[in-house]
Formats: sequence, C-alpha cells, structure tokens
Amino acid sequence: MATDPLFERLALIGVGLIGSSIARLAQSEGLVREIVVCARSEQTRAKALELGLAGRAEAEPGTAVEGADLVILCAPVGANAALAEAMAPHLAPGAIVSDVGSVKAAVIRDVAPHLPENVHFVPGHPVAGTENSGPEAGFAELFEERWCILTPPEGTDPAAVERVAEFWRRAGSKVEIMDAAHHDVVLAITSHLPHLIAYNIVDTVADLEATTKAEVFKYAAGGFRDFTRIAASDPVMWRDIFVNNREAVLEMLGRFSEDLTALQRAIRRGDAELLEEVFTRTRAIRKGVVDAGQA
Ligand code: NAP
Repeated sequence: MATDPLFERLALIGVGLIGSSIARLAQSEGLVREIVVCARSEQTRAKALELGLAGRAEAEPGTAVEGADLVILCAPVGANAALAEAMAPHLAPGAIVSDVGSVKAAVIRDVAPHLPENVHFVPGHPVAGTENSGPEAGFAELFEERWCILTPPEGTDPAAVERVAEFWRRAGSKVEIMDAAHHDVVLAITSHLPHLIAYNIVDTVADLEATTKAEVFKYAAGGFRDFTRIAASDPVMWRDIFVNNREAVLEMLGRFSEDLTALQRAIRRGDAELLEEVFTRTRAIRKGVVDAGQA
C-alpha cells in the first residue's frame, strides 16, 4: 500500500554509491516527492540524470539545497566542511541536514558550525556498502537489513531525529542512536582497521619480486582474493576516513599490533596450543556475526 512521502524535496550532495542508492530507494519507496542531486563533475551530473536518479542535477551545493526539506551529504567526509559552508546560506528554515559519512565526530566538527540556527542537524551512517563507486554502482536494496546509526548532537530536536530514523526504517534499515565518539570507536574496529589491514597486505604484494607476484595472482583464492576486494575501495573516501578518525584507529591498531606480535611469537616458538586456542575463539566470533544476520 502506498504511503505519503516523508519529505517534499530531497537534496543529495554527492551522488556516488551511497547517494545514488538513496535516490533509488527514495523513488522506489516513495519517500520523497522530488530529488535534486549535486556533484562536482559534469560527467557525474549527466550520468545521474541519464539514470533517472533525480529531476535536477546541480553543480553548486547552494543551488541544490534551495527549497529542500531534507539534505543528505553523500561526499567523502573531507569535503563536508566546504560543502556545508557553501550550502548554509541557502538552506530553507526548518530543513533537516543529515549525512552518511563513515566517521561521525569529525563530521559534526566540520558541519555543525556552518549551519544556521533554524535548521536541524541529524548526522547518520548507513553501515552498508560495497567496494564500488559512482552513480552507476548504487542499488535500492543496499541498506536492507543493515544498521543505520544516527548520532544527533545533544539538544537536537527529537522530532527531526525521528523523521530521519523513519526515512531509514522505510529504506529497510534498522536504526540505532549512538554517541558520535562511541560510533567512531566501534567502527574503527569493525570497519576501518579491517580496511587498513587489507590495504596493507595487498600493498605488501606490490613490493614482491615479479615471479612471486605472478604466483600471488594465480593462487589468490587462498585468501588474498578477499583482501583485494576490500582494498579496491575508493582511495579518497578511505584517505578521509583515516585522517578523520585518527585517535580511535590508532588505539585499535595498537591493540591489533600487540595481538599480532603474540601470534608471531607463538609461530616462532611452535606454540601450537596458543594458535589453536586463538583460531577457535575467532571461529566463534564468525558464528556470532552469522547469527546476527550480518554475514
Ligand atoms: P563515491 O561513490 O565516490 O561518490 C562520491 C560523490 O561525492 C560523487 O558524486 C562525487 O562527485 C562527490 N564528491 C567527491 N568529492 C567531492 C568534493 N570534494 N566536493 C563535492 N563533491 C564531491 O562515494 P560513496 O562510496 O558514495 O561514499 C560517500 C560517503 O558515504 C562517504 O562519506 C563515505 O564515508 C560514506 N559511506 C560509504 C560507504 C561505502 O561502502 N562506500 C558506506 C557507508 C558510508 P564527482 O563524481 O563529481 O566527483
């Protein structure tokens, strides 16, 4: 049964994997009446229109947000401060500004100071994605059964938070409200560190001599292949994540390095018991992920 749109006009600032997925689901679920997208390049704007993602594609964030009652920042997090500054004077009174950035404290730091008093800021992070980028990479089902974490700063209007939460629930997501700093610690271990490890192991191959490298490609199914998928993720997006979640990532990296050193010592000493003990524990964690429906 069709339900009324939650918003009249949605402005998506950035229309890559995440922005275009939001556009697709907002259309398929009838969440908004009208969509305007904003991208830097003419190529992306033309592609977004060709794909039918929006009625209008603008180059200027200010023009894109005019008259919008929901604005979602969907560019790499390092771009947010400049985008917020550019769009702020054009925001409609009462509009809700949200985002999808993979880090949250830095987004609040960069965006909140630019926003006028009469708009609501409800930062968000849909914990869903792929290694692909650009408007063609998106799909409406991306967020189904995934978590969307909202990190409203203290004092945010609860009604605005609820409207954004409802948007994500109607996208098929499960919504959790969290403190931004806590979000950044949790994501440092569940997402940022795994990506760093993948980038590192794949880059280690780049330094190997040619014959060994050829064999790595040949026998990639032995485990390396899965790392290459993660390490193919967008370089700019991930650059911005590490630059903007430095403390939490360094904390988790410190723990990881200690545990890795313990495994290194166990291998050197032939401590089979310790290795088996660790690998048994990790198997149970995999089961926990599967049981939570996140496999
Ligand atoms: P993407 O596919 O690379 O798309 C990025 C979009 O932002 C493009 O439309 C691009 O426009 C625009 N853009 C890039 N740099 C910009 C700048 N400096 N100023 C203005 N616009 C700029 O990226 P994505 O994967 O959708 O990621 C977008 C956001 O979602 C990031 O903040 C990321 O942390 C978050 N996120 C990503 C994932 C994931 O798995 N990918 C998951 C959850 C959250 P042009 O094409 O014209 O350059």
